Amino acid sequence: MQTERINVTKSFLPPLAEYERYVEAVFKNCHLTNNGPLLKELEVKLSDYLGVHNFQYVTNGTIALQLAIKALGIEDGEIITTPFSYVATTSSILWEKCKPVFVDIETDNFTLDADKIEQAITDKTRAIMPVHVFGYVCNVEEIDKIAKKHNLKVIYDAAHSFGSKYKGKSLVSYGDISTLSFHSTKLFHTVEGGACIVKDDEVNKRLSLAKSFGHIGDEHFALGINGKQSEMHAAMGLANFPHIKRIIAERKELSNIYDEEFAGCSGIQRPKKQKDLEYNYAYFPIVVKSEEVLLKIFEELSKENIYPRRYFYPTLNKLPYVNGESCPNSEDITSRIMCLPLFVGLNKDIVYKITKIIKENL
Ligand SMILES: *Cc1c(COP(=O)(O)O)cnc(C)c1O
Repeated sequence: MQTERINVTKSFLPPLAEYERYVEAVFKNCHLTNNGPLLKELEVKLSDYLGVHNFQYVTNGTIALQLAIKALGIEDGEIITTPFSYVATTSSILWEKCKPVFVDIETDNFTLDADKIEQAITDKTRAIMPVHVFGYVCNVEEIDKIAKKHNLKVIYDAAHSFGSKYKGKSLVSYGDISTLSFHSTKLFHTVEGGACIVKDDEVNKRLSLAKSFGHIGDEHFALGINGKQSEMHAAMGLANFPHIKRIIAERKELSNIYDEEFAGCSGIQRPKKQKDLEYNYAYFPIVVKSEEVLLKIFEELSKENIYPRRYFYPTLNKLPYVNGESCPNSEDITSRIMCLPLFVGLNKDIVYKITKIIKENL
């Protein structure tokens, strides 16, 4: 057994000296937070990289979702969302006193099934909150059409989609607002952090105000919260920024090895990559035949100190504080899906070991 524990991910860290260079600047000018120079520099770099404007760096991806709901003026009512995501997608809706209405997912790429949205719309529906899960793109054209027809807002939880492009455009350029997470487990991170990408300038102003207590100087305009990000976090973002290309390339290389090793395995289902999607290799999910097989694989891998994760489990319509609609596809997929270790620095021999153990236990 190898001694080093292998988790589903391992945070990327830049060379320490590169981080220190930015921290020294913070120490020199003693500007620690409140829209400091490093934060502004990072916002410019990231919005250029993503090809978007109205980019707001905030404390985390959950606050980003809550700010999005607030800034769009959704005070109560129903938000149609996916049951197959991280808990923050649902909890942010509930925290903003709205009701999540769950619409089932597609079985080939696990995103919200656009064909099932219209039948869930009521006179209380205010918005749709889909997730580009694992960095695969939602049916953005169809969702956009439905939203326009029914006068609904669209908030994309794009926490997984940093670096993914659809038809040449970053995934975060879709919807009224897209949100990102820069948590340390994500492909690009700033230790903690997130962002809102806002289409409408007025909404952008509201969001900017809301993330900073709702006031400018002594003048108070609206209810706000503290969603501001610090210079120390921006420093990590700036130090990580030059490595994005390498991060994605290395993950792609490892993903390709997994795929080659699993080629022809009838017991493994992989998400179907949409035509026109330039993928970011954020995760490596596989779906196996049954939960029993999944648990057996977990057991065998744990003997080698290797720990994949059940992303996402449980399906969010079954959370104990949610009385969700039934979503058979999500309930089925969630019982059989796991994400395999994928991170910069993962040894290829470990990938071969993982695929061998999985193939022996299908
Ligand atoms: C990570 C994640 C979030 C939350 O982001 P934080 O920065 O950890 O608050 C929200 N939605 C999805 C789909 C995520 O994976």
